Amino acid sequence: MTDSSLTPDIRARLTQIEDVTLEEGGTFAELTTLHLGGRPRLTVRCGSTTAVAGVVTLLDAAAIPLLIVGGGSNLVVAEGDLDVVAVVLENDGLEIDAGSGLVRAGAGAGWDDVVTAAVDAGLGGIECLSGIPGSAGATPVQNVGAYGAEISDVLTRVLLLERATGEVSWVPATDLELAYRYSNLKFTGRGVVLEIEMQLNPDGLSSPLRFGELARRLGATESGERRPVAEVRDTVLDLRRGKGMVLIDGDHDTWSAGSFFTNPVVEVAVADAVQASVRADRGDEDADRMPRFPAGEGTVKLSAAWLIDRAGFAKGHPGEDAPARLSTKHTLALTNRGSASTSDLVALAREVRDGVRSRFGVTLVPEPVWVGVSID
Ligand SMILES: Cc1cc2nc3c(=O)[nH]c(=O)nc-3n(C[C@H](O)[C@H](O)[C@H](O)COP(=O)(O)OP(=O)(O)OC[C@H]3O[C@@H](n4cnc5c(N)ncnc54)[C@H](O)[C@@H]3O)c2cc1C
Repeated sequence: MTDSSLTPDIRARLTQIEDVTLEEGGTFAELTTLHLGGRPRLTVRCGSTTAVAGVVTLLDAAAIPLLIVGGGSNLVVAEGDLDVVAVVLENDGLEIDAGSGLVRAGAGAGWDDVVTAAVDAGLGGIECLSGIPGSAGATPVQNVGAYGAEISDVLTRVLLLERATGEVSWVPATDLELAYRYSNLKFTGRGVVLEIEMQLNPDGLSSPLRFGELARRLGATESGERRPVAEVRDTVLDLRRGKGMVLIDGDHDTWSAGSFFTNPVVEVAVADAVQASVRADRGDEDADRMPRFPAGEGTVKLSAAWLIDRAGFAKGHPGEDAPARLSTKHTLALTNRGSASTSDLVALAREVRDGVRSRFGVTLVPEPVWVGVSID
């Protein structure tokens, strides 16, 4: 029979693994950017790739539930005592070959540190992903994306620990089914990314600008223009700061999990009905500006932020005294104003999802990973 208890023997074996530190009594509130969540059974910090692999293999063999934590910026965690060991990734090695553009980072490296170093080395390809919080190893998990770029554009392979077999090998990015805010690592527990490898462009220029707002801010006139990487990074960071999408200590608009809902992909007929309903209520000018992007045969991607706003949820909803509110800078971020509980946040998430559904018939799907709690 499998023993899933965290016995003194298991603890002793964990401490024997090099570069591992055990912490008792920590909370997920200390590990997440929402600053929410109760106590794991134990927090295990792993300072090297071998330590991560050793810890996960040991806990899996003992059938002890674990949660991999990078920067905690895409997690909604329940309050109370949680039957899970938090395995915190701190293997932050970084190798950059400025000549070839090949970059390798440990999963626990801060993602924006990787972007900074790449941009400083004159490498293009990830500048549009500047300022995304969290770790390098989590970027493939939901195929992070921003301002017209996704990690899938440059990711070549990941060093993956397959949890079913305990095998560690370099797996090509094509094996991860990377898609809009999705990979086969998200919600599946398939494996742990130990390191990532990216092929960047060594010519000092950004990827072709694909995102209207960014291109306009840079004064780009032709579609697909390329600009010096540092200029694009600075502009992206500026745009993100204006939306509360860069972590800033003490700014509660950034106590969030970023965009809380994914942009819904719906059938053309549904998008047409949403637009017609906005036209009837708010007039042609607003309806004609509705963001809608082709998303494959017969489907359209809508903007979750726009739908939330047009369903009647303004920035800062429901108002000053509420412990959990929409960001005052962006309707798509649900934020903790300092005293919220996970239940407050989940109640707000339900209110927004249900409000958009009853107004437009579109069900928004949350983007973060939920632990011990659910929106349903
Ligand atoms: C202010 C703000 C802005 C944001 N902006 C963006 C944005 O522009 N674009 C975007 O895509 N996202 C954005 N996000 C969401 C988030 O930053 C990303 O999803 C990020 O990649 C999460 O990294 P993390 O290390 O914090 O992951 P965590 O929150 O620690 O973990 C998230 C999930 O990934 C798993 N996981 C983490 N590391 C690994 C690993 N090495 N191997 C396997 N599984 C792992 C965890 O178990 C968990 O299930 C934003 C978040 C915030 C707070």
